[in-house]
Amino acid sequence: MNARYLSMPVLMTLAASCLITASRVEAGTYVGTQAELWPNGVVPYEWAPDFIAANQQYVLDAMAVWEGVANIQFVPRNDEDDYVLIQNAGEGAGSNARVGRGEGGARTFNIRESWSGWSPSAILYGLAHEVGHVLGFHHSHQRPDRDLYIDVKYERINDCKYGNFDIDAGSLGWPRDRMDFDSIMSYGQCIFSTCNYDLDDECECDDEECPRWAGRSCAEEFCCSDDPSICAGLDILPPNESWQASMGQRSHLSDIDIQLMSFLYPPADWKFVENDAPSLPGSGSFHRPYKTLPFASFLAPEDTTLWIVPDTYQGSANVYDKPMLWKATHGVVVAE
Ligand SMILES: [Zn+2]
Repeated sequence: MNARYLSMPVLMTLAASCLITASRVEAGTYVGTQAELWPNGVVPYEWAPDFIAANQQYVLDAMAVWEGVANIQFVPRNDEDDYVLIQNAGEGAGSNARVGRGEGGARTFNIRESWSGWSPSAILYGLAHEVGHVLGFHHSHQRPDRDLYIDVKYERINDCKYGNFDIDAGSLGWPRDRMDFDSIMSYGQCIFSTCNYDLDDECECDDEECPRWAGRSCAEEFCCSDDPSICAGLDILPPNESWQASMGQRSHLSDIDIQLMSFLYPPADWKFVENDAPSLPGSGSFHRPYKTLPFASFLAPEDTTLWIVPDTYQGSANVYDKPMLWKATHGVVVAE
């Protein structure tokens, strides 16, 4: 048996070395526990009283980008304890957001005040990056194993922004064995480069009187983009160097951005199997997947869509007679 997607209601007999394969995907980074996500994909939000009205539609449009690809609903707050507080970032400051529901309470989401000079697409996907944080995505370059894929050159990065480059130890990378250079959650090579604007020379990082650091700005005559080879803070390691200039795009969601968000906030009838998941076996959620195919088949309800993370599943040659749809998340699943 060998299909690009194994998608059949089962009576299925898996003989030795049954292959389930799917098209290639890249990778993302996300919160390490289910509790950091928004329950059932419902995200209450509230505008700060002085929020600039003209910016509201920008934020709503960016929310809709993610609502269109996963089981997510942003709803106006109605007394919920845990919610997103949307406020002005302050004069000259860029947008930023807390990651996920986290420990709960008011999760601040700060929005750039002036968008003059930005294209509609750059506004939409610049804010979609931030909404990705709100929903539980970390930066791609902060996944725990990022040193396998990129060289972070701290000496070229403004030290007020080191926190945006340090590893998020509690995060998880998906898929486990590669990094998504096309993700909307990646940084571009020049962001916060000292070649663009060396804030250190002028003031302390937390000095409110200082010009706020804007990642896109280029205050000096010579900019990182003039010679990234000596300015870029992120250097992609072989064999992925071809992504060096295009990493950090803000024009679309990558394939894996879409897939990963749909796994974090799935339809009710999706379950997951992962042989070597970084968790104890659980209810079949993405964070607590089943560990074996026989268990998944036994425990998941009829008509489940069962997503199988690529691996060789030993002891899985069996007769499976519960009606289900089995799919490889990517790559090749071997059941034997
Ligand atoms: Zn970010």
